[in-house]
Amino acid sequence: MDFARHSFMAALTWLALAACSEPRTESAQFHVFGTMVEVILPDADPGQASALFASLQQEFQRMHREWHAWEPGELVRLNTAIQSGATTGTTPDILELLNLSQEMELRSGGRFNAAIGKLVALWGFHTSEYPVVGPPPSAERIASLLETAPSALAIELEEGALFSFNPEVQFDFGGIAKGFAVDLACRMIRRAGQASAMVGAGGDIRAFGSNHGAPWRIGVRDPSGGIAGGIEVTDDRAVFTSGNYERFREDAGVRYPHIIDPRSGWPVAAVPSVTVVAQDGARADAAATALVVAGPEEWLQVASSLGMDAVLVIDEAGRMQATPAMMKYFTPAEGREVEVVGRR
Ligand code: ADP
Ligand code: MG
Repeated sequence: MDFARHSFMAALTWLALAACSEPRTESAQFHVFGTMVEVILPDADPGQASALFASLQQEFQRMHREWHAWEPGELVRLNTAIQSGATTGTTPDILELLNLSQEMELRSGGRFNAAIGKLVALWGFHTSEYPVVGPPPSAERIASLLETAPSALAIELEEGALFSFNPEVQFDFGGIAKGFAVDLACRMIRRAGQASAMVGAGGDIRAFGSNHGAPWRIGVRDPSGGIAGGIEVTDDRAVFTSGNYERFREDAGVRYPHIIDPRSGWPVAAVPSVTVVAQDGARADAAATALVVAGPEEWLQVASSLGMDAVLVIDEAGRMQATPAMMKYFTPAEGREVEVVGRR
């Protein structure tokens, strides 16, 4: 875990401690999806909380195994079946991830594309060890994968069985799975009778209810270091950020971030940090990834076709732009300015 995640967790721990008087705050941490997932229940009965944490632990483990992009599990089995041209069933969660991925691919004009697993692998990003070191793949290999035009829309779903018109499709839910997992966790927590909770996954959160009457608050990191501001949410909201500060390939002083533009096959060059506030984690996660691909010129227009009205973009120089809807949640750090852009 890097420093930034440490400080995020420190902030969460502080939240938990600050709320430690009556009623009791319960929290737990889970190591899944290559990150730390933290669940905070502000008004929990300790017995109920530990039973809930045990089932969450099981569920997170199941999702981790089932959706893993390169370790043996259901997704790898599915990808192998697709490659061999077979029609196959899969799990309800993966079917839902597929549907969401199709929707987000369409609405983002192909900037989010969960079918580019072969490209992600070619760039060496099917690993838990970052940074990846060494020269990028050859332009020829990238071009020949691009020619196969992988798309989640090549999937035909019929009575739970699935077939891909394109055998080169390989699913990688790295840009949406964390969000979907956070959604499933929140659903379980609600079903267990909790009226308030925060589920955080390495800087991304979904939170509902309140933190003892106060809003849930999270810090937004500045790509160049420090905190750019804070976001406060109540009700039920997902706050997701994508950027390149942690996961990249490095070669001769050049960084190739792990977010790939599916239209060029190359990692996004100038990577802003994009934060979105939305109703659900899966769409927020995918949208943040798509808006990084969209970049400084196009993010506003792509956000609108994604149905995302609350967006904050911080470029590599630390310049902040936000939509009017984002300004309902976001307060810049002292001395920082935000340019409000887009229609009210
Ligand atoms: P993080 O999980 O670090 O916040 P993202 O949510 O942006 O980052 O997801 C990045 C991951 O998504 C990559 O590691 C890769 O697995 C996958 N990915 C990369 N580029 C795209 C893309 N254009 N569309 C969909 N998924 C992508
Ligand atoms: Mg994402």
